[in-house]
Amino acid sequence: MACLLIYDRRFLDHDPGRAHPECPQRLSAVLDGLRSAGLAGRLRPISFRQAAADQLALVHEPAYVDLVRLMCDEGFTSIGSDDTRLCAKSYDVAALAAGGAMAACDAVMAGTARRAFCAVRPPGHHALADQAMGFCLFNNAAIAAEHLRRRHGLERVAIVDFDAHHGNGTQSVFESCASVLYVSIHERPGSIDFPGSGQADEVGTGPGRGYTLNVPLSRGAGDAEYRAAIEREILPALRRFRPEMLLLSAGFDALAADAISHLALEPESFGWITEQLLTAADHYTGGRVVSILEGGYALDCLGAAAARHVAALLG
Ligand SMILES: [Zn+2]
Repeated sequence: MACLLIYDRRFLDHDPGRAHPECPQRLSAVLDGLRSAGLAGRLRPISFRQAAADQLALVHEPAYVDLVRLMCDEGFTSIGSDDTRLCAKSYDVAALAAGGAMAACDAVMAGTARRAFCAVRPPGHHALADQAMGFCLFNNAAIAAEHLRRRHGLERVAIVDFDAHHGNGTQSVFESCASVLYVSIHERPGSIDFPGSGQADEVGTGPGRGYTLNVPLSRGAGDAEYRAAIEREILPALRRFRPEMLLLSAGFDALAADAISHLALEPESFGWITEQLLTAADHYTGGRVVSILEGGYALDCLGAAAARHVAALLG
């Protein structure tokens, strides 16, 4: 199946400083992995532009968007907490990542292809409406989902987040919204320190109650635990929701080799996880899926994991 690639070398220009896990080499590892697996030539690059401030404000407070711009211009090197770093180009790079995710949605909605993989950074799923957090400045997946609702009139968008960490930012944006199903499978809070949320009893609020699904896994969870959780909880939730579009917050930090979590997936795991999600959603989405890179810091096997994921997108 045709799959679009969203990538620009300017994504390497967000410089978090020395010895930071969210480094530009992550994207090089992802692209090398796609090349080594013989997949790069099967992906169709598309052009895209930086998201405008009002597009970032689909989910972020306008004052926060202005603040990120100002802090980059003024030479600040972090925002919110010390681990979320800035350089002079970070606003533009983060807005380009959000613009790439939106362009992927536009192309998929236009029928250019049914699937897209966004090899973007910085990641987005911890970014709140008014706050940077956990290496994330703008919430790429949330902006894409809101763009699909407002621009394309979709009434049911599912976001499945398989990053090792709970996507607290995405949950926060949509927790009272019944039009976006947010599903996160991640290491249990308490076992992993960050971000501290994502318990199973966080199910959404008000009209959004029942449209947030958190599946926390214990330290050391691997294929067997993922398979059981996906089959018992996530696939039935997708089928009940009948999404018109599936967005994936594709984090690869649940790899056993990734020091940032205590989960135990192998690169191959991301192939079958992706296949399972697509099989459940395709009936409703017509095969439309946009995958957006989140975390993944084990440079020696991140590329192999991303390649398994993209191979499954290609079908
Ligand atoms: Zn993560």
